[in-house]
Amino acid sequence: MNKITTPPTLIMIFGATGDLAKRKLFPSLYQLYLKGSLEKRFAVLGIGRREWTNEQFTQHVRDSLENSSHDQDRIDSFIEHCTYESHDVEDSSSYIKLKERADELDQSFDLDGNRIFYLAMAPEFFGTITDHLKADGLTDTEGFCRLVIEKPFGHDLPSATALNKQIRQSFSEEQIYRIDHYLGKEMVQNIEVIRFANALFEPLWNSRFISNIQVTSSEVLGVEERGRYYEKSGALRDMVQNHMLQMVALLAMEPPISLSTDEIRSEKVRVLRALRPVEGKEVDDYFVRGQYGPDENGEIKGYRENSNVDSDSNTETYVAGKVMIDNFRWAGVPFYIRTGKSMSVKSTKIVVQFKDIPMNLYYNKEHSLDPNLLVIHIQPDEGITLHLNAKKSNLGTDTDCIKLSYSASSVDGINTPEAYEKLLLDCILGDATNFTHWDEVRHSWSFVDKISEHWESTKDETFPNYPAKSMGPAKSDEMLAKDGFEWWPVGEQDLEE
Ligand code: NAP
Repeated sequence: MNKITTPPTLIMIFGATGDLAKRKLFPSLYQLYLKGSLEKRFAVLGIGRREWTNEQFTQHVRDSLENSSHDQDRIDSFIEHCTYESHDVEDSSSYIKLKERADELDQSFDLDGNRIFYLAMAPEFFGTITDHLKADGLTDTEGFCRLVIEKPFGHDLPSATALNKQIRQSFSEEQIYRIDHYLGKEMVQNIEVIRFANALFEPLWNSRFISNIQVTSSEVLGVEERGRYYEKSGALRDMVQNHMLQMVALLAMEPPISLSTDEIRSEKVRVLRALRPVEGKEVDDYFVRGQYGPDENGEIKGYRENSNVDSDSNTETYVAGKVMIDNFRWAGVPFYIRTGKSMSVKSTKIVVQFKDIPMNLYYNKEHSLDPNLLVIHIQPDEGITLHLNAKKSNLGTDTDCIKLSYSASSVDGINTPEAYEKLLLDCILGDATNFTHWDEVRHSWSFVDKISEHWESTKDETFPNYPAKSMGPAKSDEMLAKDGFEWWPVGEQDLEE
């Protein structure tokens, strides 16, 4: 791969002692360094509340790289670019010192005043930090200033609007990079290419030829230690408002007139505007909620048994929905989405089911034709499988379903770049295409809010309604069965077959 060169940059990570920085941000920055995208003129300023010395911090960064390359010289030279500042973001007086540190690094690494402020912290601090960054002159430089914000961006439309208003006092929309790490995933980025670079698909990509599209993101892990956060969030806010609706938007958008950030975003926004709103009792026709109980062997505890979870909790750990897009292209085509915790398979997959051909010449009692499917494997395996019908190798005319597979990781022979690595690179390069614009956030919250309002006002007495290590509540299957469909399996074995 050609080396991608980046402008000189100071990357200030607020929350540098936390989990996200350790598991994702430092390893991703190091990968960019190994690939030469970060060279001499960059610096990382880690910011946390605890009073660490620089040595303690750099040891922390080293520890975070233990699964990366073990080339000590390279790690040592990367670490020379990393430094720490203990700073309580609520302490107004300490931003002046932070500015001095940033200015020093700017000088010593010759960074042209370019700054990225990465807020890897709890959202309640976002507004305070951005207010101070501007008021105390940290954004007052000759170079570019960009703000990266982690999810969640609000917990409903009013809170997201208030947060956006506050942030916009210090940063313009063009300077704000709202992370949805699904948009950094290789195969999510591939959705557009599969659609718009293949004569085979785009002509068929509409209600005349597609019967339904299924988007699954299932996790095997339960809520574990995140009960406090999850009780307030639930699967709808945690997954549907952002990742699931973003995938739907990419699948459903019209071809943009160019690949520019603005054109792609505006096509995605048009999809989100066309989502059929569902509210009140109608929600029950379009959405199913679930909460996991213990598994059948009693080995895995149910959601309600986790710490910081109400023993009578009404929070959903599973959501399935039938999303309708009321525009010309998609009239009548359901987009079924489902996501949940403590499920039997870890998998993010998109299955595009094409309509049956008008007449089946190959019908026999034992075997009817299978529908053509295009499966996009997002994670853990990455690739594409196309399900076709072909003649069985025998004397008759029996048909068989064959699968044409492309596995991104096995062909390339290397792990595809981590989503965070790509997104950090995009941000340094000033490419906001794979970040969410406020308009996308606004429309997806207004869709999701109506569902959560109904769920919050009605207790689900059937909870817990699916055992851990299963694929969710029976009601979810029934929702598809009513339309004459079923969920396609999302097991990990597909690509090997
Ligand atoms: P975390 O492990 O709890 O870390 C929180 C960080 O915030 C720590 O570095 C902490 O510093 C710092 N902090 C807290 N209060 C502070 C204050 N008053 N002044 C300065 N620093 C303060 O959280 P996380 O898991 O890394 O998550 C960070 C953000 O990313 C959250 O918004 C989360 O929703 C989002 N996110 C996380 C993940 C993930 O995989 N972890 C994934 C997606 C999104 P001290 O410990 O030194 O006090």
